Amino acid sequence: MSQDQRPLRVAVIGAGPAGIYAADLLSRSEAVAEGQVRVSIDIFDRYPAPFGLIRYGVAPDHPRIKGIVNSLHKIMENPDIRFFGNVEYGADLSLAQLREHYDAVIFATGAFYDASLHIPGIELDGSYGAADFVAWYDGHPDVPRQWPLRAKEIAVLGNGNVALDVARVLSKHAEDLLTTEIPENVYAGLKASPVTDVHVFGRRGPAQMKFTPLELRELAKSRDVDIVLHEEDLQYDDASRAAIESNNQIKALIKTIDKWKAEQAERTEHASRRLHLHFLQSPAEIVGDADGKVAAIRMERNELDGAGGIRPTGEILEYPVQAVYRAIGYFGSELPEIGFDRTRGVITNVEGRVVDETETPVPGLYATGWIKRGPVGLIGSTKSDALETITHLLEDRAFTAAHPEPEAVPALLDRGGVEFTTWEGWHALDAHEKALGAAAQDAAGNPRQRVKVVEREQMVDISRSGASADARD
Ligand code: NAP
Repeated sequence: MSQDQRPLRVAVIGAGPAGIYAADLLSRSEAVAEGQVRVSIDIFDRYPAPFGLIRYGVAPDHPRIKGIVNSLHKIMENPDIRFFGNVEYGADLSLAQLREHYDAVIFATGAFYDASLHIPGIELDGSYGAADFVAWYDGHPDVPRQWPLRAKEIAVLGNGNVALDVARVLSKHAEDLLTTEIPENVYAGLKASPVTDVHVFGRRGPAQMKFTPLELRELAKSRDVDIVLHEEDLQYDDASRAAIESNNQIKALIKTIDKWKAEQAERTEHASRRLHLHFLQSPAEIVGDADGKVAAIRMERNELDGAGGIRPTGEILEYPVQAVYRAIGYFGSELPEIGFDRTRGVITNVEGRVVDETETPVPGLYATGWIKRGPVGLIGSTKSDALETITHLLEDRAFTAAHPEPEAVPALLDRGGVEFTTWEGWHALDAHEKALGAAAQDAAGNPRQRVKVVEREQMVDISRSGASADARD
């Protein structure tokens, strides 16, 4: 095949929204539409199933966001895009192998781990990272099946949407999650939880929350959970008032807070669980008991500084809690042989072109999504990010792969003994999970839409045997 006849071969590492959007935008790019170039894309993921953050990061009771899977599914049906699951970059596939088989590689590996918080007591039994808990309730194959839900009182640190997800799931009654795809072990764990109070702490003021209005309002929809606000936390300075006036998102958030404050004053019947929203308090220390278990959290009171910031007052407030979840942001993980900015937790890149220590682009290597720009922004913002990356990829395009034949890739993985899954395999696993759901019931006796398979081996077995059965049909 001459170089100008063959398609540009592109590998995408990570089958989450960032990787799938990049593949989609590449396959629908102007250069492709105008016939200047053809593309053939393989998306790899270390998990046997695709969809990354949507499957393993979005809360189960967020069907609207989980629904993004439908549009990602459609993209993956494109015959120019293949899926190879259960393949880990750096372990099952090296950079040299990728370079041999592809003209360009896009890293879209996201951010999976929690940012660290350096306060005394953070290592105590009962102190957790939100990302680990999210992975557990989303049935991630690589985390333990059991989660210790023994605490009656819980602190959640952070004022972003992950803090809201974690606080909502911790405070909800487990039966109310049966309409979702939560696995059986997660239902059983949450059902046994003795929780009564979940305290969410923001270090800044109410006008500096990072929640989005829809997600904040959703808290009020949990059955038998009262939202509790504390008058001393609800402080506004001139900078706060200016922010509320000029920013519709902040205005909407404060409107919700004001509404809840009014409802709280009128409340005559009380729920069995409470979700407290605290502001202007920074975590100072987690206090342990004699057995090394979390017994309390000490928070330092902050005050607004008049210029949009805060300053500590020195006043310490202690809350009895038996568990602490830090939801203070995610942090990307370093990939073998790829430059990494350890301060920001991202691949070193300029507008999606991977660069070396002298800021010189490394030919053929690109990044997109959270591993490119850091763990901020809603799923939609990943699209504009991917557009920038693939625009550069097409500008730079060069046919460099020694083995661009698509069939060389499964052969390479087979030779390496990698039990990879495919898009046909996902169809099989998807059908299996839906069948498990149809056979189960929610609290109202209705069939469930899906029950997730959690064990990696089981996912691989169902995918691989289902895919080969499809091939026999
Ligand atoms: P985030 O929005 O950046 O929020 C992190 C929070 O942690 C902020 O309130 C931050 O406070 C606080 N924080 C950071 N360091 C702290 C410290 N040392 N002590 C106390 N607090 C600290 O991050 P995220 O919640 O992980 O969310 C990541 C992205 O995913 C966001 O864009 C989010 O909207 C999105 N997301 C969306 C949904 C959804 O349902 N739509 C769900 C989950 C996540 P400061 O503001 O003071 O820095």
